Amino acid sequence: MTNVVSPGHRAQTAAGDRVREDFPILGRSFDGNPLVYLDNAATTQKPRAVLDALVTFYETANSNVGRGYHRLAFEATDAYEESRAVVQRAINAEHTDEVVFTSGTTAAVNMLADTLGRAVLAEGDQLVVTGMEHNSNLLPWRRLCEATGAELVVVDAEQGGGVDPARFAEGLGPRVRLAALTHVSNVLGTVNPVRELVAAAHRRDVPVVVDGAQAVPHRKVDVRDLDADFYCFSGHKVYGPMYTGVLYGKRERLAGLPPWQVGGGTVKDVTFEDPVRYVGVPARLEAGTPNIAGAVGLAAAFDYLDAIGWSEIRRHDELLVRTAVEAFSAVPGVRVVGDPAADPSGIVSLVVDGIHPYDVGDHLNRHGVAMRAGVHCANTFVDTLDPVGTVRLSFGVYNTVEEVEFVSRALRTVKAGVW
Ligand code: PLP
Repeated sequence: MTNVVSPGHRAQTAAGDRVREDFPILGRSFDGNPLVYLDNAATTQKPRAVLDALVTFYETANSNVGRGYHRLAFEATDAYEESRAVVQRAINAEHTDEVVFTSGTTAAVNMLADTLGRAVLAEGDQLVVTGMEHNSNLLPWRRLCEATGAELVVVDAEQGGGVDPARFAEGLGPRVRLAALTHVSNVLGTVNPVRELVAAAHRRDVPVVVDGAQAVPHRKVDVRDLDADFYCFSGHKVYGPMYTGVLYGKRERLAGLPPWQVGGGTVKDVTFEDPVRYVGVPARLEAGTPNIAGAVGLAAAFDYLDAIGWSEIRRHDELLVRTAVEAFSAVPGVRVVGDPAADPSGIVSLVVDGIHPYDVGDHLNRHGVAMRAGVHCANTFVDTLDPVGTVRLSFGVYNTVEEVEFVSRALRTVKAGVW
């Protein structure tokens, strides 16, 4: 890491200050405007440490894992399994075999819907989700209900807030077999009281799947403390490579799952006559050649974040979110949606009176600001909010207070359409 700060991009916490030069892409500009990358909830930029880990893997250890009988294959296998151990420590899982590598949160949830879901749900049963889910933690469950004849029960979030444990418990009737809920809303940054929600479900013997896609980049997640049965997240949102992700599952829960996809790497023994004998987890759930370099890059990302320090990352988030809420709310006609400063998670969503979010987005984009406008793949949740959509500004470790101020100046001119 370096201590150099790009001109015009000073930050007040060490995270922003120290790290900008670790991210080569931040040097880009558009029509003379430096890139202000505030679309981190969609995907984060990759530090040099991650890029180097990918190149080093391909230059020195590229080989398949768990198959070949040669030294490169052993090295690649070691690197892959060491990466699993890094992820295990990062989320405080008890065992390395509780970490399954996937291509992202979407793949992890689909895997669970097709394996766990089909095992526990039958016609007439119920599956509970919250009203604030991303489509990736809603559509797999909805399709599962359609296929099994089970009923999808939706517990809404409180107005402008998260899911209330008492209301959630009311949704957990005697027919509920499974619950799926998000840790942090990708629309408003609202943090759900996951530990309490999981405890409520466990009192009724209901296993819980948590979508941690927007939590893991911003807080030290401890899966044992949350007591989640399953916890999914995307590596590419945690400064890791694209098409990486993780499904964590308690050992005893994963052990009961059949393979999701079948093929190479999943079997102990195959004959034409006898039933196929599958290997244990995690290999049973990682059919085919995995994204080995991706796993190595994801481990490098967690090492990188550890070096910054999680308390520093929290402080940085708090500074940026609270500064943004104050600055944006002071702009006439701008309303911040929800209460992102209550427990900052790097997301601030806003609307501008009388202007469609796409038009606000277009204005910001013309000034080099990368953000997201619309319903953020959470159509059903945004339908429960007032606006047709929001402009979402989401922060990473390299963002600065100056960037927040730049956006708030741009918002002041959005009505006139000029800078
Ligand atoms: N869940 C939440 C809360 C998200 O924000 C996202 C992505 O934006 C996803 C799931 C899907 O993640 P991926 O596209 O990496 O599978």
